[in-house]
Amino acid sequence: GRRGWHSPRAAPAPTDGAAVRGAILPRIAAQRIVEAALRAQSENGDMAVFMIDLDRFRSVNEALGMAAGDALLAVTGARLERALDRGDRLVRLEGDRFVVLASHPPDDPEAFARRLLEVVAQPLVLAGHTVAMQASIGVVATTAGERNAAALLLRADSAMRRAKAEGRNRSALHEPRLDAANLEKSQLELDLSNAPHNGQMHLTYQPFVDLDLMRVTGVEALLRWRHPTRGEVQPKTFIPLAESTGLILPIGTWALRTACAEAARWPVRPLLAVNISALQFHQPGFTAQIDAVLAETGFPADCLELEITETVLMRDNPETIGQLEALIARGIRIALDDFGTGYSALAYLARLPHHRIKLDKSFVQDLTNPATAELIRAIIAQARANGVCVTAEGVEVPDQLAQVRAMGFTHAQGYATGAPTADPVALFSERLAAS
Ligand code: C2E
Ligand code: CA
Ligand code: CA
Repeated sequence: GRRGWHSPRAAPAPTDGAAVRGAILPRIAAQRIVEAALRAQSENGDMAVFMIDLDRFRSVNEALGMAAGDALLAVTGARLERALDRGDRLVRLEGDRFVVLASHPPDDPEAFARRLLEVVAQPLVLAGHTVAMQASIGVVATTAGERNAAALLLRADSAMRRAKAEGRNRSALHEPRLDAANLEKSQLELDLSNAPHNGQMHLTYQPFVDLDLMRVTGVEALLRWRHPTRGEVQPKTFIPLAESTGLILPIGTWALRTACAEAARWPVRPLLAVNISALQFHQPGFTAQIDAVLAETGFPADCLELEITETVLMRDNPETIGQLEALIARGIRIALDDFGTGYSALAYLARLPHHRIKLDKSFVQDLTNPATAELIRAIIAQARANGVCVTAEGVEVPDQLAQVRAMGFTHAQGYATGAPTADPVALFSERLAAS
């Protein structure tokens, strides 16, 4: 796990369990800390909340690696902590977010925010590179009697979004009129951060068919979010949000663990494919996390396939290849997802250990184009020569199924062979008619 930070001016550790120094807190825990602070403030005392989000933090992770990103967050946290006054609190949220609770609010909150920005901007050396960060800060001041911590954090969050929209590296004071639209995004993100704990997430399983056997041989786990007021929120809405905020880490872990736990209870052992996003794959300790999930759920490693987007792996570095090899050594299979949407250099594939290529549905929809068909035949020929499976994605109608089978794809996945379902067990005994 991540280690906490310690300010040299070591203050006594807070005793409220959730507020462990430096630990990353889910929003709900942060909310409790703000609630406690609101209760504790004197009747006529005001408080100010500063929501801090680093600008372009993702590019640090991408350029220098996630270990460097973690180090940056730890140093930034320690520096922010030192900049606080007595009685102020720093809470670290998921991703690159921090909250500062100023219990004796500064007369000029924006001046205080500028001080925080200066702290963030102090250069540091990471993996041999000097890095200076910027941040966007949303500020909300409370008045006596304010008790709604959740609303307070949302307002600070919505103001932070406006600071970003207005050009980053600045602060913005919350203004209801200006932040109304942002508030809705903040709320959605807050809901998303709590969704796995609230039982609002579940998985559906979409079968894929072996085109020689014409039988379902595996399923892909797909996340679903059932929101209490919005209804079903589609992955294309919430996955990008989860990725941009870092929430994909807890959510992705939940999906992996839940898929393995559910599939471990099925009476048969099909392949279980789980999507892994870039941030998850490059997170330090990813392989250890996989080990832990397999040990905990008893799901066999050699029935697990990890679907990783091709573009994630295209960074041709020894660590990526080493990590793939470590996973493969455990019996885990690797599928290159969304193949063809990035820059698919066929030569590069040879250096990248993998068991399957999943050809994006845009290709399947374009099979009648002779150039596309020729490219696909070349990909299939090379894959088959290396014992690699090739799945056609988005096979929607029987005609396409016959077509991809004739072309030599090894597997097909799409509405033609089965939509995602919560209970796939019955599918494993069916045999499809070979049209
Ligand atoms: P994907 O990995 O490419 O997953 C396939 C998507 O295509 C699924 O959408 C599936 O429902 C849809 N699909 C299946 N058959 C057909 C078809 O015949 N035609 C068409 N047009 N679409 C078809 P879904 O479930 O909405 O998921 C969207 C994306 O969200 C996934 O794309 C994947 O990138 C991401 N995702 C889903 N679950 C997870 C997860 O647990 N972790 C991560 N990191 N990403 C996930
Ligand atoms: Ca950020
Ligand atoms: Ca996938």
